[in-house]
Amino acid sequence: MAMVEAELMEEVAAWRRAIHADPEFGFEVQDTAAFVAGKLRSFGVDVTEGVGGTGVVGVLRKGNGPLRIGLRADMDALQITEQNVFDHVSRRPGYMHACGHDGHTAMLLGAARILAREVDFDGIVTFVFQPAEEHGRGAGAMIDDGLFERFDIDEIYAVHNYPEWPLGTLATRAGPAKASEDNFEIRLVGKGGHAARPHMLNEALVAGCQLVVALQTIVSRRADPLEHAVLSVTEFVTDGIRNVLPGNVTIRGDVRSFTPKTQELVEGQIRQISAGIAATFGLTESVDYSHEFAATTNSPAETERAYAAARAVRGMTLVADCPPVMASDDFGLMLQHRPGNYAFLGNGTDSYPLHNPLYDFNDRAIPFGVGYFVELVRQFSAG
Ligand SMILES: [Zn+2]
Ligand SMILES: [Zn+2]
Repeated sequence: MAMVEAELMEEVAAWRRAIHADPEFGFEVQDTAAFVAGKLRSFGVDVTEGVGGTGVVGVLRKGNGPLRIGLRADMDALQITEQNVFDHVSRRPGYMHACGHDGHTAMLLGAARILAREVDFDGIVTFVFQPAEEHGRGAGAMIDDGLFERFDIDEIYAVHNYPEWPLGTLATRAGPAKASEDNFEIRLVGKGGHAARPHMLNEALVAGCQLVVALQTIVSRRADPLEHAVLSVTEFVTDGIRNVLPGNVTIRGDVRSFTPKTQELVEGQIRQISAGIAATFGLTESVDYSHEFAATTNSPAETERAYAAARAVRGMTLVADCPPVMASDDFGLMLQHRPGNYAFLGNGTDSYPLHNPLYDFNDRAIPFGVGYFVELVRQFSAG
């Protein structure tokens, strides 16, 4: 690596640690957005702030060619109390960058600087910094605010740091890379009362237990075995106490899958089984079912571009056609509007897991992530 490049990487690592020390949550990423906007302006990038609340969009134009590429990073942290003790530990109690979005933001800034100052391309590169990835609202807010109308983006790319992959690895695939996430809430309502007199009541707990068991049959007996799906009941809440049978049961859970067809099937089955069990036990029921994250589905041509870019980065190991994961990313919604690719960037196998209070983005991944973004743009210049 050239000396000047090594110096820049050290600077990017310093930005990363500064962002890590000042984690912000959801749409409330004002400090991070201001930091991003300031850096982009200092590189000569045109900056629009406040896109979808606190999103930042940077536009870099060179020449009049047809290139219209978008590169996206997420800026938000998590509501987790950090347990690390290093110098750049979170200065905001109860918040930390436990998903490495500090690294994503810093790496995209590093790429912006190299593309602005050192790389020739012919067209427009758009840098998209989104808020509120973790709860899956930021991408939609930016899209609703005209991300793809106000800015010229024909295809869009993102990376996520990943502890399971060795340092220097870029792993991706065509087709589904990350799952959709849906949530459900089922309410059963009967008549609660004295625990010694169930025959005088219509309590909801036993029916609720049967419902939890019946829900387990949706993936095992109804979903196509070749379509991946996970249905997890995560909460069972009643208004019963020691000697009172509950009249109300609320069951909540989480569904992951890769296709709208499976999402529809699971939702339909949850509604049918809930209605059936409620009818069997003479209860009333209601079901709320919400789509929280779209599946992240990579398009084939752009994935080939991602493969080529990864091969061009010095020292990078490409894992093509990697396995998908059942976690979700808000970037999936952007891929419903434009073709593109989402890739996993190795954070090292000695890394703590994502969302762990001891997590820290690996600064040694920075040259790979920055290099990958730069090479994505260079693919076009190479024709
Ligand atoms: Zn996360
Ligand atoms: Zn994340």
